[in-house]
Amino acid sequence: MMTRREWCAALAAAQLPIEDYQPRSMLKVEEHPVPRARFPVIDVHTHLSFGPGLGKEGPPHHAAAPAEVLAVMDRKNIRMMVNLTGGCGRGLVETVTYWHTPHPDRFLVFTEPCYNRAAEPGYAKFQAEELERARRAGARGLKVTKVLGLYLREKITAGPLVKVDDPRFDPMWEAAGALRMPVAIHTSDPEAFFLPIDRYNERYEELHAHPDWSFYGRDFPPSRELYEARRRVMAKHPGTQFLLLHMGVAEDLAYMAETLDRHPNAWLEFGARIGELGRQPRAARRFFDRYQDRILFGTDAIPHGDDTPQQVFNDKLYEIYFRFLETEDEYFDYAPARTPPQGRWKISGLGLPGRILEKVYHRNAARLLHLG
Ligand SMILES: [Zn+2]
Repeated sequence: MMTRREWCAALAAAQLPIEDYQPRSMLKVEEHPVPRARFPVIDVHTHLSFGPGLGKEGPPHHAAAPAEVLAVMDRKNIRMMVNLTGGCGRGLVETVTYWHTPHPDRFLVFTEPCYNRAAEPGYAKFQAEELERARRAGARGLKVTKVLGLYLREKITAGPLVKVDDPRFDPMWEAAGALRMPVAIHTSDPEAFFLPIDRYNERYEELHAHPDWSFYGRDFPPSRELYEARRRVMAKHPGTQFLLLHMGVAEDLAYMAETLDRHPNAWLEFGARIGELGRQPRAARRFFDRYQDRILFGTDAIPHGDDTPQQVFNDKLYEIYFRFLETEDEYFDYAPARTPPQGRWKISGLGLPGRILEKVYHRNAARLLHLG
């Protein structure tokens, strides 16, 4: 017979690795599945195609065929998807032809800066004019990824980092305003990505699985400095509309309230951040009440993006977003995955009323995108 003391010692020695730990909640809570959005949806943050990557040339890669995506959209009541990563130049034309041209009322495409030319003399003027060409080619907005601030360097992939408010982009921001093309901009990343990958890091498992997502140390600026640079850009270009992706700083709603109050040309989208909002559902609900005219629906969805379950394009992902927005359900998964991929927490719904839901689902996006 084992004594109680021996039994405890044996248990402690077993050491369950954290990645094998899959606790099941014992709470008996109400569940209100939402298989279909209550109002038609415009998903303003999706990635249906990808360019070859910084410093590389080549044709775009399409993550799926339109028919496959349309089937999910029809089931979920998604009227339109905005494919943000449309690239530039020839790649943009190809992407518009693939998604938008055959289905102009279902897919919109944004263009991206031609970063590979950013070190050439005359780039500032070229990029502003390129935006005009992109508009003529069918692009409806400009997407700026975290490449600006965290990857783009003076010699594209080498040298010092180019700052978010580098003046060479000023003509581009101005052109976007003049062409009525909103700028969807992703700056920085979750706050925890700028901290050591240690026992105190709330996204330890995610960073452990993707160590290249860490921006801790080396020559990376602090996260807040990136956000402040973005605010300087918005202040300098008041005639340009900026859609701050991923809620801006989803961890800091007070900072975002101040940002929206100070910059009337700022809008928000919450793709891949319902894990942050749903952890503070009461504050988030008040925030949605107050800024209901400036928050847009987005998921950051990628067809076949199985590596990042919080953004994999499928029915289940949309059902989670709809449940988060429409119900007051408590303590449910924020991603269709066995283990929560961004951190071991669960979320609660906001239970938004119909008049706010309609705005978040499509009215605000229709306004920003100038849809009739
Ligand atoms: Zn994205």
